[in-house]
Amino acid sequence: MLSSKFKPYHVPLFLGKYAWLKARRRPVLVHFEVTMRCNARCGFCDYWKTPAEAKKDELKSFADAARHFDPMLVTWTGGEPLLRRDLEDLVAAVDRAVRLKYVTLITHGGMLTPERARSLWDAGIHQFNISLDYLDGRHDVARGIPGLTEKIFRTVEAMRAGGIDNVRFNTVLKDDNLDQILPIVRRAEEMGCGVNLSVYTDAKNGNTSHLLGEAQHREIDDLVARLLAFKRRRRGVVTNSDYYLEQIPRYVRGQMTEPCRSGIDTIHVSPTGGVRRCPDFPTDFHWSEYRRYEPIACNDCYYACRGEAQAPIRIASRVRDVMGTTRTPAGVA
Ligand code: SF4
Ligand code: SF4
Repeated sequence: MLSSKFKPYHVPLFLGKYAWLKARRRPVLVHFEVTMRCNARCGFCDYWKTPAEAKKDELKSFADAARHFDPMLVTWTGGEPLLRRDLEDLVAAVDRAVRLKYVTLITHGGMLTPERARSLWDAGIHQFNISLDYLDGRHDVARGIPGLTEKIFRTVEAMRAGGIDNVRFNTVLKDDNLDQILPIVRRAEEMGCGVNLSVYTDAKNGNTSHLLGEAQHREIDDLVARLLAFKRRRRGVVTNSDYYLEQIPRYVRGQMTEPCRSGIDTIHVSPTGGVRRCPDFPTDFHWSEYRRYEPIACNDCYYACRGEAQAPIRIASRVRDVMGTTRTPAGVA
């Protein structure tokens, strides 16, 4: 799924930038956490307990950090980033600071309106990722926001009608939503959207109640097989790489042993300008000292960003994912 903001000729430019960053051991993906505050009430994350006073210490610009990293992928995240009324200014400043980049905004969607989406799109957002773990009221309950699910669908339809052509649902595989995954994928396909899957972890606040256990192993195997089969028929809806999906059964069985490259290939800049290797680790030092990170023997999560950073480059497969095609584009082996 390629936004109309990009053309096929951008693909080799991004591949070149990716190689340049890797050769210089720089993060390919930088997450800017603009606030830790959040107005949801998720049971598996404590960010919403951040006091309102934290606002006064939040950076007024991330442009210097963006210029320093010069990443290929930028993600605006939180907390809930839409709580920042100056988010458009933050996005526009980074848009000016980095020439070739792909910019994503992650939101729970409860405060997103078609008008706000348009102003963020115009400021430099290329992709909206909206959390969606169930198609029904269970999602409202899980996030503690009444009416959230229907609001998301109304907003996304209006965004699509208004020309915003790159919306994805961020969906976390949990113990009680495996039956929802293919219906979410089909709903996304009908709406012209994508789905980005991650696996639930208790690393955020120790809440083990949604962990995938032995009872779900066979269901997970079956689901992954169905998702890969779906991708063979229709690229560009399930946006995870084939590799990422193929590793999920290993992860849930506790068989993953490879070191995590967070802090090296991906990094998080905190609201006050510190860096941390991932959202589940504390802030370590100022962003300019990021080279102190080394790979770590941690397998506490299998978030999409962690898993995709580990994925070997299967160029033909990834280009087909990005282009939303089912065959290999000419010239790509
Ligand atoms: S998971 Fe997201 S939506 Fe839920 S409290 Fe944490 S930051 Fe907010
Ligand atoms: S596996 Fe990596 S991204 Fe996940 S919690 Fe551990 S260090 Fe963080």
